[in-house]
Amino acid sequence: MGFTRVDGVLHAEQCSLDDLAQKFSTPLYVYSKATLQQNYLDLDQAFDFIDHQICFAVKSNSNLAVLRVLAKLGSGFDIVTGGELARVLAAGGDPSKIVFSGLGKTEADITKALEVGIACFNVESYAELDRIEKVAARLGQQAPISLRVNPDVDAKTHPYISTGLKENKFGIPSDVVFETYQYAATLPHLDIIGIDCHIGSQLTETQPFEDALDRVIQMIEHLKGLGIQLKHIDIGGGLGVRYQDETPPSFSEYANSMRPALEKLGLKVYMEPGRSISALAGVLLTQVDLLKPTNHRNFAIVDAAMNDMIRPSLYEAWMDIQSVNHNTQVESKSWDIVGAICETGDFLGKQRELALTAGDYLAVMGAGAYGFVMSSNYNSRGRAAEIMVDGEQAHVIRERETIESLWENEHLLPEG
Ligand SMILES: *Cc1c(COP(=O)(O)O)cnc(C)c1O
Repeated sequence: MGFTRVDGVLHAEQCSLDDLAQKFSTPLYVYSKATLQQNYLDLDQAFDFIDHQICFAVKSNSNLAVLRVLAKLGSGFDIVTGGELARVLAAGGDPSKIVFSGLGKTEADITKALEVGIACFNVESYAELDRIEKVAARLGQQAPISLRVNPDVDAKTHPYISTGLKENKFGIPSDVVFETYQYAATLPHLDIIGIDCHIGSQLTETQPFEDALDRVIQMIEHLKGLGIQLKHIDIGGGLGVRYQDETPPSFSEYANSMRPALEKLGLKVYMEPGRSISALAGVLLTQVDLLKPTNHRNFAIVDAAMNDMIRPSLYEAWMDIQSVNHNTQVESKSWDIVGAICETGDFLGKQRELALTAGDYLAVMGAGAYGFVMSSNYNSRGRAAEIMVDGEQAHVIRERETIESLWENEHLLPEG
């Protein structure tokens, strides 16, 4: 939708990526505003059958401009730190549509969240219940809470992004869910309003979502018997996208798979999608710097590296890499697309059939989620600039980091 070829040249909406790379230099993140909006609206429409609130998972892409585009469409936000809370507020997000996840909320984070009036804390332990109770008591408030339960279902995704198994650190284990709710009910400054589960990321089937939902609904029924009435269910995020040849459910298949159970339940539905909204709304542009063919492998050393995009190194993620312009000068060959960082794990893709000449621009597709947000300054590399395209316009939404800025918070010892 947002990224297509016009006369052989890859475009973001009406902007040529070749022009953008030349104008703003590389490595460069480019997002399509229309794609971001369309993804949000499609998901929203898929859940039309029930009272619901989409809370975009800020950790997948936290640029202020991205958050603002979604906030304007009515999106709420799923945050995991005080830093993300501050970002959402800076972007003009509505605090009353924020759910606060994460397993290590600090007292300062909780205080701020209560002061601005967020929708709900998703709580993951007894210790956290006590901490929220303490802060709420000090502020003389009732903190809205839900428990993040661990339904012990296999999300069938990469182990590093699977969160709903009993060996994972996340959520309240299913065997202690009821006692934890009953404990929460004894704390006077907590208002128990919901239940939450998030079983993993990049799920490509509906079955694990349905299984988790079944278990959570059983818990809700049992809680009723204990006198604990909930107002909402938060089904988490995790819907996958197509990076290679995956066939993840569409938004409507995802919604329809849960529709009968959710309609029967009749509670308000919160959801926390990240990747399914932002991944395919972005690309990472990079320039081929040097070619290093060897007898064993051909390496194309590019100006983006694992510090810009760590998914291939961290999760063994496969990301599509395309030439921005079709290169008709040379034959295509198998290339390993690697960065210039001193790590063997520093690659963007291996054994890709591409026709390459030094100076060519490449686009790493599906880079809008868990891309820039996971970037670092490793090897003293400044982080990339970010651009948002809106039709024929390209806006800089984050400046490229200058080298000097990398040490602006550092100090020499007093002796100089
Ligand atoms: C990461 C995360 C999400 C978003 O996951 P996606 O796979 O990007 O949709 C939602 N909720 C929680 C609690 C998370 O940790």
